[in-house]
Amino acid sequence: MSTLRVLTYHRIGQLDESPNMSPATLSASAEAFVAQMRMVAQRFQPVSLEQVLTSIDGGPVLPARAVLVTFDDATVCFARHAWPVLRELHVPATLFVPTAFPGSDREFWWDRLHRLIQAAGQSWPSGTSSEMWRTPWGAMAVGSAAARRQAWRRLAAGFVHGPFEQALRWLRESAARCSLEPRRSPVLSWPELRRLRDEGVAIAPHTRTHPPLTAINAAALTDELNGARDDLARELGDCWPAIAYPGGFCNEQVVVATQAAGMRLGFTTRRGTNHWPAAEPLRLRRINVGRRSGPGRLAIQLSLPGPLFNGLCSVLAAP
Ligand SMILES: [Zn+2]
Repeated sequence: MSTLRVLTYHRIGQLDESPNMSPATLSASAEAFVAQMRMVAQRFQPVSLEQVLTSIDGGPVLPARAVLVTFDDATVCFARHAWPVLRELHVPATLFVPTAFPGSDREFWWDRLHRLIQAAGQSWPSGTSSEMWRTPWGAMAVGSAAARRQAWRRLAAGFVHGPFEQALRWLRESAARCSLEPRRSPVLSWPELRRLRDEGVAIAPHTRTHPPLTAINAAALTDELNGARDDLARELGDCWPAIAYPGGFCNEQVVVATQAAGMRLGFTTRRGTNHWPAAEPLRLRRINVGRRSGPGRLAIQLSLPGPLFNGLCSVLAAP
């Protein structure tokens, strides 16, 4: 029995490099990322998605201190800031792509919401007072920076808990009222993804349109899972049987549908380490890296014995 630790990254870069994107998904500066990956390469045993999948099929067991480095959302900063570092340090990477985004004008809902709330400082949707927004989740004050931070939290909860379609409709209508300019997708294009695949990146599905899978109906769930698998097979010739659930959200229905789509591994955002081979390979834990995760803090999280770390995570996650 071994242990698999999985790191989750989203975006790499400086805050001011992407003012139109929500800072909530910025995992590390380019410099911090280099320091973190040097630490991982020196003190741990980076493994590839292929090694992980082979090990559950009776292939070689994972080495001690195995760490899988994953990136959700496949934004362009991966190619710019992350992959050159990973390649130089021989750290395998797994990139989870929402397959409706490459080459489109789709924007992630949290980035559009961020822009909308930013715009609240200057202009107001018609039909609202200068300090209140009427939303499906009640009236929200947006007249000060603190109020806008609170509005962000309440609105984001509305997207996550659903109904997701209703939240998207409200966002679309509000963006139109605010005359928010459409933006091109921040996700890597198919030609860029094919180049990364050729250079050794494992490219795997992150659904098609990135909804919280627990907040959509059964038909949409099947379409998101099977559609992403088929998009990758069409564009890249193959699809790794491993998925990262958007926002980490999964329940029994999601797990059953994921298995039916042919997936062998499902990555959540529940913090912790995994005994390996995992008892529940479609509910794997990961360790999310945020802007406060320096190399020292990350090393501690990766070094603690699995049961102790998972126990601490459960205590800290308890309401
Ligand atoms: Zn995501």
